[in-house]
Amino acid sequence: MKTIMVDMDEVLCIGGHLGIVNKFLNTNYKIDDLPGYYTEDLIPKEHLQEYYHFFETQNVYDYVSIIPDAIEVLKKLSKKYQIFICTAYYSDMYEMDQSRCLVDKYKWLQKNFPFINPYQYVFINDKSLLNCDIKIDDRLSNLKGYGEQKYLFDSYHNQQISNEELKQEGAIRVSGWKELETILLKEE
Ligand SMILES: [Mg+2]
Repeated sequence: MKTIMVDMDEVLCIGGHLGIVNKFLNTNYKIDDLPGYYTEDLIPKEHLQEYYHFFETQNVYDYVSIIPDAIEVLKKLSKKYQIFICTAYYSDMYEMDQSRCLVDKYKWLQKNFPFINPYQYVFINDKSLLNCDIKIDDRLSNLKGYGEQKYLFDSYHNQQISNEELKQEGAIRVSGWKELETILLKEE
């Protein structure tokens, strides 16, 4: 069986951090309002410390929506491929304890993707270490390293990545799970 690296944030689910920002600011920002990848950019600098304290008390995955068709397509793919959910839970841009994020990710995956065994969860920052045959991620830098087929999952923050950059990484942009289904489940 070929192996597939599947990213979690912005590939299986979206909107968690934005939901927390909206709760903190009492606003109703949408994904398209974001200036870049990081939702924290919406927080005025003088409130950032306070925001981090609030963030520590929240479960990001209470606020997410599932990306359309992710469950259905991944279920089909898991019959033909060995799926690994490969996701980072720690970022040194936040000066706070992030251990709950690991637990929250684990529980959300268990609840929403019960057909994927926790043996196949990989919590990792440097995904170039992974030798999966197929890689799916919304960040081009996470597609580095080995991979026969690399797919950049279309997202609000990666629109500016040029075809030239994709080509250099040997990656193809895909619009979503339906397109991945067509590509990865077509008869060979
Ligand atoms: Mg991601």
